[in-house]
Order: sequence, then C-alpha cells, then structure tokens
Amino acid sequence: MTHIIEMKNVYKSFYTESSEILVLKDLNLTLKKGKILAILGPSGSGKSTILNLLTSLIQPTSGEIMINGKIGYMFQRDHLLEWRNIMDNITIGLEIQKKLDKESLKKIERLLKTYDLWEFRNGFPKELSGGMRQRVALIRTLATNPDILLLDEPFSALDYQTRLLVSEDIYKIIKNEHKEAILVTHDIAEAISMADEVAVLSMRPAAIKNIYEIKLTIEGEKTPLIARKSPEFKDYFDDLWKELDINDK
Ligand code: ADP
Ligand code: MG
Repeated sequence: MTHIIEMKNVYKSFYTESSEILVLKDLNLTLKKGKILAILGPSGSGKSTILNLLTSLIQPTSGEIMINGKIGYMFQRDHLLEWRNIMDNITIGLEIQKKLDKESLKKIERLLKTYDLWEFRNGFPKELSGGMRQRVALIRTLATNPDILLLDEPFSALDYQTRLLVSEDIYKIIKNEHKEAILVTHDIAEAISMADEVAVLSMRPAAIKNIYEIKLTIEGEKTPLIARKSPEFKDYFDDLWKELDINDK
C-alpha cells in the first residue's frame, strides 16, 4: 500500500534555558492512501507537535519524515476574521500566496454550493453557527488544493450536539473530495467513528503505543453517526479506553 506520510524513528525535544523536554521518543507512523488516521492521546502528549512537524513548522531532533503531497492544516479554532465576509475569509490564503485566479474561484464556488454555504458568502462569521464556521474553515483549507488534511482537534470548541453534526459534515467532505487526513483528538468515540485507523499515543515522551484498524459492520455508506451504532463500536471503545488509561505507564 502506498504511504502518503511516513514518520520513522522521530524524536523531538524542546529546549529551555535550563532543561530539555523530550516530547516524542522514537515515533513511527504511516498514513495510507485514501485513509483517515486518528491520533488519540491525552492532553499534552504531543499530538500538536506531530502535526507541527508534518507542516515543517518545526523540525525533528532526529528521525525521518516523508510526505507525499501537499498539506492543508485545520486548527482547533476556526480563526475566521470577523471583519471579512465569508467569501473573503475563504480566499485570504490564496490572496496572500497570489494564487487567487479564475480556476480557484470556480472551485470555491463549487465547494460553497455543495456544502450549503453559497447563500452566506456575503455574510459575516458572527452570523454563522459554530458548525457552519467549521465548514467555512475547512473550505478555506481545501481552496488551497491540499492532498492531505491535518485536523488538530477541530471539534473541541463545539458543544456536544454540534460536534456530532459537524464531524458528520467534515467526514463527508473529506471523503467526497478524496483527501487523506490525520485527525488529532482526545475523544475516543470521535476517533473510532471517523477514522480507518486509530494510533494511540503513550504519555510523554510519546511513542505510538498501539494501532487499531477500525472495521465496523455497516450497511450502506459509512458516516460517523452510523459508525457509532455499529455492533463493534463499543468493543473498540472499551479497548481504547483501557489503552489510554493514564495510570498504566
Ligand atoms: P497535545 O497537542 O497532545 O496537547 P503538544 O504537542 O501541544 O500536546 O505538547 C506536548 C508537550 O510539548 C507539552 O508538554 C508542551 O508543553 C511541550 N511543548 C510543545 N511545544 C513546545 C515549545 N515550543 N516549547 C517547549 N515545549 C513545548
Ligand atoms: Mg494540541
């Protein structure tokens, strides 16, 4: 199987004046073609550090990182600019890169229409619900034509009900647009319902403790809400719960 992302024996330390913090210790990870990989770990375990390494925002202390494609990054908060309308929020990245052309505008128009935001294009972020704002943020990321999406706890600022609905939307968009994705989360159910594989991080210094391939019995098309109702869901939940147990070093 083709690997879209491969991290091999990655170590990452942060240095302060007086000490060294070892955050990642011999981390090995692969993202396979056409798949969503969830990285599940407690707060402070090094999840964002992994994504920052993949965007080259920071460099590994040692080890290898191979990336086969262009990365798009979606943050925990939507970072929409309140003084720009929806269209102008979506085009901002391309504007800055001086890549806003007819073709990209057509793509944005298609995305806005497909994902029910076209009528809101001239409105402002404060007029939108939390879920709609996350959709705008994802379309803004997609507008830059990434092959691989990195999602850093994208639903954690939303209330529970909205979170379920937005993960449904975001999942469908990722699959419809044929993207690979890494979803970072501390939410076990979210990981099982969205991902093809779940990689569990150990406590800091983090390595991959275990990787679960998620195989659910589902009739018809999978969506996160349908996945939650599959017979295997609870077993995965129990296994991952035990795996994450913070007392178990
Ligand atoms: P997570 O996303 O899983 O909550 P992070 O990757 O943000 O965790 O952080 C992992 C650890 O690395 C934390 O202990 C954090 O304090 C430390 N860390 C992250 N970035 C830096 C930095 N730039 N300098 C020093 N320490 C950092
Ligand atoms: Mg984080």
